[in-house]
Amino acid sequence: MARRKKIYEGTAKILYEGPEPGTLIQYYKDDGNRTAIPPHAAVDGKGVLNNRLSEFFMAGLNSIGVPTHFMRRLNMREQLVRMAEIVPIEVVVRNFAAGDITNRLGIPLGMALPRPIVEYYFKDEKLGSPLVSEEHIIAFGWANQQDIDDIVALALRVNDFLSGVMMGVGIRLADFRLEVGRVWEGDFMRLIVADEISPDSCRLWDNRGLDTPEPDGAPRVPVPLPDPYTELAKRLGVLPSNVTHTTRPTLIN
Ligand code: ADP
Ligand code: MG
Repeated sequence: MARRKKIYEGTAKILYEGPEPGTLIQYYKDDGNRTAIPPHAAVDGKGVLNNRLSEFFMAGLNSIGVPTHFMRRLNMREQLVRMAEIVPIEVVVRNFAAGDITNRLGIPLGMALPRPIVEYYFKDEKLGSPLVSEEHIIAFGWANQQDIDDIVALALRVNDFLSGVMMGVGIRLADFRLEVGRVWEGDFMRLIVADEISPDSCRLWDNRGLDTPEPDGAPRVPVPLPDPYTELAKRLGVLPSNVTHTTRPTLIN
């Protein structure tokens, strides 16, 4: 049997040519994600869980009418997706202050933002994925104004869906990052959610006690969800039965 063609190997996933034109197979590795929160090298069993978790979120989005690349799961580590032309922008949606917005702007960690804040980062790791504005995106032709309007609408729908699902299992979605791609249906282009939605792309806090402020009115210091892959899969009921370790995965390098 001919070996299938590898198209790209990134930090967290490998992309192979799919069985039909316009499809790809995403293989989820255990390797870490430099941009994960917090960054890490590799976590044993992570790929199996992220394959399930990304399926769970993308299939959920598909079912409420938010288009994503997800088609179906193939096995423990692989899923079939629609091939998309990725917009070279990482879209970040923030609900609570953390990371960059705390470090750069001094907004207290954990503070509820007055409205969801959508940010764009140029997808170029060598440049350190710099923050860019709509002006840069339009001037350099990465997307046009209509695309940006559609991307914001898409990102906010994903935000409401993910925030609600997480809240239902006692988790606060502080922020997350999204990749969007173009697909063509005849002459009609549309933007769909691509890449993955998993603890590697979401900042997740345990919701317990977060709604009651400190006695001096300051926001509670948020507690990151311990072992987010297993914990999230367990709470959402998508832990594969043949994954033996239900305890904390171990860092393997
Ligand atoms: P990276 O290290 O570049 O983040 P990953 O390990 O996350 O890479 O691999 C996923 C790669 O596949 C990313 O470059 C992402 O943009 C790309 N990708 C994700 N979904 C799709 C899709 N539906 N079509 C084409 N490319 C995709
Ligand atoms: Mg990635």
